[in-house]
Amino acid sequence: MSVAATATATATPSFRIRRSTRGVPRMRMPVRSSTISVAPMLTKLQSDCATPLPVLRHVADSMSADMRAGLAVDGGSDLKMILSYVDSLPTGNEKGLFYALDLGGTNFRVLRVQLGGKEERVIATEFEQVTIPEKLMFGTSEELFDFIASVLANFAQQEGGKFHLPPGRKREIGFTFSFPVKQTSIDSGILMKWTKGFAVSGTAGNDVVACLNEAMDRKGLDMRVSALVNDTVGTLAGARYWDEDVVVAVILGTGTNACYVERMDAIPKMQGKFSPSGRTIVNLEWGAFSKGLPLTVFDRDMDAASINPGEQIFEKAISGMYLGEIARRALLNMAEEGALFGESMPEKLSMPFILVTPHLSAMQQDNTDDLQTVGSILYDVIGAESNLNSRKIVVEVCDTIVKRAGRLAGAGIVGILQKLEEDSTSAFFSKRTVVAMDGGLYERYPQCRQYIKEAVAELLGPETSQNIVIEHSKDGSGIGAALLAATNSQYDQDY
Ligand code: ADP
Ligand code: MG
Repeated sequence: MSVAATATATATPSFRIRRSTRGVPRMRMPVRSSTISVAPMLTKLQSDCATPLPVLRHVADSMSADMRAGLAVDGGSDLKMILSYVDSLPTGNEKGLFYALDLGGTNFRVLRVQLGGKEERVIATEFEQVTIPEKLMFGTSEELFDFIASVLANFAQQEGGKFHLPPGRKREIGFTFSFPVKQTSIDSGILMKWTKGFAVSGTAGNDVVACLNEAMDRKGLDMRVSALVNDTVGTLAGARYWDEDVVVAVILGTGTNACYVERMDAIPKMQGKFSPSGRTIVNLEWGAFSKGLPLTVFDRDMDAASINPGEQIFEKAISGMYLGEIARRALLNMAEEGALFGESMPEKLSMPFILVTPHLSAMQQDNTDDLQTVGSILYDVIGAESNLNSRKIVVEVCDTIVKRAGRLAGAGIVGILQKLEEDSTSAFFSKRTVVAMDGGLYERYPQCRQYIKEAVAELLGPETSQNIVIEHSKDGSGIGAALLAATNSQYDQDY
């Protein structure tokens, strides 16, 4: 494959304090006088977060059952089972210049790709990534989409080199939008609600493609959105371009979600709609799943304090935006009740979202004898003085939270595979099946990856799990969206 990738990315700082921390006490508070030992507190946390096989099985079975209920009728379960309107997947024949936009929960990416068909495949790609300014997450829809359009306009201006568009054609965009959207066609969809901490006014209930088109008009930018795709759908399409056995895609980033390839006749709510391939991609919106999850008081308190209490419970237990915060709440409790950091409380430990998932991951990669990295992160981030014993406990807390997240994600994946197996007339589990994974949490937290694999193997058994390949599809969603823009191009494709 000849991929010329030029990264013009602005590096995102690996540790960044996000989300609002206003209204937080800043006093150095004394710990309670009658402290109890921290060891039993850790044991309690571990048992509250435990995911033994019966718990995993219950989650997988409930996921399958919720999928069926959501496919039967809109509103039939926690899972929306959104139809993507993507019923032809990339074949490898796609040719031409296409753009992709990817609005995640943390980053915004723009990408262009020159596709060369079966022989040349991806001739060139270029991308640019910017962190979404926090104030835009709480601003107006116009401000957010103007920002997107201006990044796109600057990026489009720098086109050159191996990229070229036949005369008379508009540049076409695949727009990856990683929030729950009710698709109305391949190139339109209504935002149902913001998630992942976004509270932008004026978008929910509106067509996000129309919002983007209006912003592009305001910038005088003449491009056309030919496919609106969820990030999971983009990832599936991108991975499928290289490997025909990909049938499921899962994102574990700021938030989490999954999609898969479904048979049209297995979707009762489609009511006889037709697709030439007889298949379509269904987006679970699995962040809203809620059954049988082992949750703690820290999860409940975090949920209650969130901007969407009672919603996105699976997402809050397993995705990157929240793992650091759950750990912070557990550590705060240990510091207050168990004097984890000695007699005085590190003041910043009371600040919501001060500890982020990349911190947990960095602490768990510390191989030094005295856990130096853990010590310096605790000192730098929350101002805590720690000894080896408290550092070890902190690492255990991180591990407990990420272990639960990884294993629950694994159970969710098995829930999808199980549903496909039950419906299959052939022996689904006896052939190779690929699950394409992406997202910052999956990519950069090795323990998380390991726990996912272990849970899948435990649930499926050694023989079956050999046929299930869980693969990182790096940045597949960007290329995937561009490929779907190609598949749904308004122009004739000369192949
Ligand atoms: P988005 O969700 O915006 O599409 P990503 O897929 O890149 O973006 O995911 C970003 C998220 O991944 C961050 O919010 C963070 O929770 C998580 N993450 C980033 N870096 C790491 C890391 N080193 N370890 C663990 N999690 C990480
Ligand atoms: Mg993303």
